This record gives sequence, structure tokens and C-alpha cells, in this order.
Amino acid sequence: MNFKSFLIKYAEIAIKGKNRYQFEDALVHQIKNCLKKCDGTFKVSKTVGRVYVEAETDFDSDEVITALQHVFGITRICPVVRVPDMGFDDLSEQVIRYMDETYPDKNITFKVESRRTRKNYPVNSQEMNAELGARILDAFPEIRVDVHHPDVMLRVEVREDYINIYSKEIPGPGGMPLGTAGKAMLLLSGGIDSPVAGYMISKRGVFIDATYFHAPPYTSERAKQKVVDLAKLISKYTGPIKLHVINFTDIQLAIYEKCPHDELTIIMRRYMMQIAETIAKQVECQCLVTGESIGQVASQTMQSLNCTNAVCTLPVFRPLIAFDKQDIVEISEKIGTYETSILPFEDCCTIFVAKHPVTRPVLEDIEASEVALKDVIDDLVKTALETEEVILCDSERF
Ligand code: ATP
Ligand code: MG
Repeated sequence: MNFKSFLIKYAEIAIKGKNRYQFEDALVHQIKNCLKKCDGTFKVSKTVGRVYVEAETDFDSDEVITALQHVFGITRICPVVRVPDMGFDDLSEQVIRYMDETYPDKNITFKVESRRTRKNYPVNSQEMNAELGARILDAFPEIRVDVHHPDVMLRVEVREDYINIYSKEIPGPGGMPLGTAGKAMLLLSGGIDSPVAGYMISKRGVFIDATYFHAPPYTSERAKQKVVDLAKLISKYTGPIKLHVINFTDIQLAIYEKCPHDELTIIMRRYMMQIAETIAKQVECQCLVTGESIGQVASQTMQSLNCTNAVCTLPVFRPLIAFDKQDIVEISEKIGTYETSILPFEDCCTIFVAKHPVTRPVLEDIEASEVALKDVIDDLVKTALETEEVILCDSERF
């Protein structure tokens, strides 16, 4: 019995009242996008509270399931056999065939769970459970019923004009469909944290652009390529990412030359934020996102975060703010960015870092130090913005 269809379940978006259609439409749209990367052609349709993917040609089931596991909003992916509405005897035969072909080894326990949305189907749900169960037991002597902890929960749903038979529910990524919650500018470095932060904000339905600061020749082409690779990896979830690459060298050198060295990191980060915010506004992002987490390093103390926030007018979201490193590592392994993140390439922040950076910067002091930059900084920032390089990062396959 061929699975040619998948029933897509979604949780959170089903409870959104009047906005529900908008959410469902976004989900359907994103499912169509992800299936473009799979072999075969597919029809994606929605009915009340349900989205279906139906293959119209040959396809690779594993590939499609993997693709769907990258679509935010999906909680469960159920390979389903859809049969036309039919009388109960014919349905029983279909169900027995389904069990036979789906579970060649019959040394299993099962339970039937039937539902009817077409209430005038001649057999009610209770009767269906009992009668289908009995017929399956007749057909396969080794099989047993377990109503509490069955190996196989066989679901039979009588809908308006067709019947669904399924028993496998593969977890999806959860979250909200992309395109339902605005757009963010991610400050993306080559580390472990910021790709995870991008994934997490995107999981709430947010599109992302990204900004990367490099400092050639202090940082190499390979360090930049690593960031492009990371953007491509998370784009499997977030959709294509426009990566804005900013040459930060001259700004860093000016700060190095003119400001106290224990304040380098914090001042650098303030300029990074300002530049990222300028680009964010140009491309209509509503917030900035970083991979910062309280206390992880000197630039991520509460006082330091306050000093960087002070230069921004857009909100700065930090999805990892209360996460331990180990928890962040686990997510990065799960989403497939970890191996790339740990490749040992230099980052512009680490090259110009002081031995003993301030951990409790005072905003007035930092602002006073920045006065030393006043003759040069506007031009340097302008040039950095004018020479930005934009790289479209997308993945061809999952
Ligand atoms: P990550 O693992 O994301 O690099 P980190 O623990 O190394 O984070 P920092 O280097 O202090 O921490 O950077 C904190 C955040 O600042 C990063 O998560 C990222 O959002 C942003 N950031 C740092 N360096 C860069 C850079 N070169 N380009 C763009 N954003 C950066
Ligand atoms: Mg870093």
C-alpha cells in the first residue's frame, strides 16, 4: 500500500481565532516552498483544521519527511492512506490491507481509534473501533490488542468525502509558520550561538536577514565562507537569508588607535549594533537579534548589554539570554550547525580583544571615550555601509 499523502498536523496555529486562515495560508506556502527542493510534484491543500500533501508523481518519502521537518508550524507529519468514502465492509478490507503492508511483523499490539466528521456514516466511532479491531484480530492471529500502551495506534478518520487511515506520527519542528511575525536582522558571527539565535527567532514565524562583520586581512576569506555556510545551514529552516557583509577593519583600527584598550570590545559592539540597525531599517526589519547570553563573556554582562542597547532604537532580542552553553550546543547539534561553528577560524572580535576587558562598563565613560573618534567615525561608518556586500544564502537540498 503506497503512502502518497501526508496529513500535516499543527497545534498552536489552530487556536488563533480569526487570524487562523492567515496562519494556515503561510503554512501551506512554506510547505510548497520546501517541497520545491524535493524530487516529484506535490499538491498541498487545506481543509478544515487539516493540511494535506499529496504526491502527484513518484517521490522519495524520506526526503519529503525530512523537508517537512524543516517547516515551522508543523507538529506532526503523518503518512496517510486516503481512500474514497466507502461502505464499512470495503473499509475493513482496506484497513486490514493497511495493517498487513505497514507492519509485516505482526508480533505487535494495536488499538483502533476512529473518528467521524461525517456523522451520518452508517457505523459510529465506538462500533468502528470494536468491529475493525475484531476483524484485524481475525485476519492476523499473532496480533494483540492493547488499549493502554499499544505499539500501533491505528487511526481511521471518516471525513466528508474520503477516509484517512494512518498510524505513524513523525514529529515536526513546532513553532509558527514563517511570514507570520515580521522580519529580524540577525547579527551572525561564525560562532555557536548566533546561528542558534537565528533559528530560534525564526521558529516564532520571523523572517531573517543577517549582518556579518569581517576585518580583512585580519580575518580570512575562509572565516567569511564559514559564516556563509552557517547562513545556508539555518536557511533550511528560515528560508533564504540575505547576508550583509560589512568590512569593519578601518573602524576597528580607529577604535584600537584612539580608545582605551579595556573598552575595545564594548565600543566595537556598539558600532556593530549601530551599523546593523541602519541596515535593518533599510531592509524593513523590526528588530535586531544576537546570540548573547548573560555572563558568557565580558561583553555579555548586564552592564555591557545595557551599553550596547543604548545605541539602538530598534528592540534587541536575545533568544539565548538565559541559556547555558551546553543547552545552546545541543540545539546547534540538533539543527546541524555545530560542526561548522567549531571550525577554528578567527573572528574580528577575538583579534582586537583586550587582555582585561571592562566587565562593568559605565555608559557615560564609554560615551566619553568615543569622543576621541568623532572626527573620523562618521566617514568610516558611511564607507562601511557603502561597501557592504550582499550574499544570498540558500540551501538546495535538505
Ligand atoms: P557567537 O557564538 O554567536 O559568535 P559568542 O559567544 O562568540 O557568540 P560574542 O563574540 O561576544 O559571543 O558575540 C556576541 C554576539 O554578537 C554574537 O552572538 C553575534 O550575534 C554578535 N557578533 C559577534 N561578532 C560578530 C560578527 N563578527 N559579525 C556579526 N555579529 C557578531
Ligand atoms: Mg563570537
